[in-house]
Amino acid sequence: MLYVLPDGNYGNADGLLVIDNDNFDNHFYNYLDFMSDWLRPSFVEWFADNDHNFEEKPDSSIEECLVCEVWLSDVS
Ligand SMILES: [Zn+2]
Repeated sequence: MLYVLPDGNYGNADGLLVIDNDNFDNHFYNYLDFMSDWLRPSFVEWFADNDHNFEEKPDSSIEECLVCEVWLSDVS
């Protein structure tokens, strides 16, 4: 399978993931930016399927989520 984007980028579509991110908040993007490329597809799928109870820690520059922290510790 081949994917072609409106901006002209294209590539191998195997494993391509398109997901509804209407309910994704900033803590999702913080984690996505922070993690390794190879973890991103499974993180996005897992994130969409789970409820999150994130809390912003006063001393931290990013929002940290207890649910995401558990997932990360399981895969890394
Ligand atoms: Zn989370």
